[in-house]
Amino acid sequence: MKKYNFNAGPSILPQEVIKATAEAVLDFQGEGLSLLEISHRAKYFQPVVDEAEALMKELLNVPEGYRVLFLGGGASLQFCMVPYNLMEKKAAYLNTGVWAKKALKEAKGFGEAVEVASSAEANFTYIPVDYEVPKDADYFHITTNNTIYGTELSDAKLNDIYHKKGDVTLVADMSSDILSRPIDVAQYGIIYGGAQKNLAPAGVTFVIVKEDILGHVTRYIPTMLDYRTHIDGGSMFNTPPVLPIYTALQTLKWLKKNGGVEWVMKRNIAKAELLYDCIDHSKIFVGTAKAEDRSRMNICFVLKPEYQELQDDFMKFATERGMVGIKGHRSVGGFRASCYNAMDLEGVQALVNCIRNYEAKL
Ligand SMILES: *Cc1c(COP(=O)(O)O)cnc(C)c1O
Repeated sequence: MKKYNFNAGPSILPQEVIKATAEAVLDFQGEGLSLLEISHRAKYFQPVVDEAEALMKELLNVPEGYRVLFLGGGASLQFCMVPYNLMEKKAAYLNTGVWAKKALKEAKGFGEAVEVASSAEANFTYIPVDYEVPKDADYFHITTNNTIYGTELSDAKLNDIYHKKGDVTLVADMSSDILSRPIDVAQYGIIYGGAQKNLAPAGVTFVIVKEDILGHVTRYIPTMLDYRTHIDGGSMFNTPPVLPIYTALQTLKWLKKNGGVEWVMKRNIAKAELLYDCIDHSKIFVGTAKAEDRSRMNICFVLKPEYQELQDDFMKFATERGMVGIKGHRSVGGFRASCYNAMDLEGVQALVNCIRNYEAKL
């Protein structure tokens, strides 16, 4: 039976990307060695990192003055690396979910971390708009897609933030929507994320950093936590996560070959419209996120109160039809279909058919 992978992360990758990685595990570029056993210092690996950086820049239209790094530690390490490198006195955070809150918590250890707004009172079902960014903040941190709650900062909300931030450096956790749509990178000081949602297997973190925002804090920064270390070392200061970087490169090539971020955005919109339309017309399901803040990447829906007892039965029905990873996060409940870049329209159509067939038999 064909499996449809709706896991939130680690998550679906294009089949050809998985195959290319598998081949390199057996024989890396005809060298007679496995990707798993080559030295990261060998002449043949540096080009992999360089090409991955170049392709990230090309696909996201990254302007001059930025570097793309591939580091360990996950997005979670960035929660502390960001304040370490950028926060002298004060930083501002938009609290749109658990990940945003974890980032904010780390910043509190470095100075005054201000929560400018939060949607916690509504279990993060919407993106707040009514706030100001303090002009004296060293940076303003946002989470562009809230993986757990299925909310995403729309282009309109991002434009509002570009306006609100004024001269304050903008920092974004884009773990779960990087490369899913074009983004105006020039508006940001740092964009980071764990690669295991839209790019690679777990183990590598991408960081797009504007070089001239670094070096302005007075504290000592441990070598490994200083972005400049990794800029100088070309993501090779220490042994980098070789395998996930290789896979990330394959995903970037796949994206470029198919038409880049514009192409994938159109596909993501079509997928999201298909599934949200199904949920909105459903007798038994209802979406959890406010319509204007709905995520294209993580689509959350729950059973209506009068159908709650069907939770396990629908899960069983869907599992028998090849649906994988659709259980909602415990803090939202219900179901979540993560429709990352690698998920095609056919996969989402299969889920929609599954929902319709289930309702038809009720
Ligand atoms: C998954 C996720 C994280 C955590 O990433 P790790 O790489 O596991 O640390 C952080 N932020 C967002 C938005 C996520 O989706």
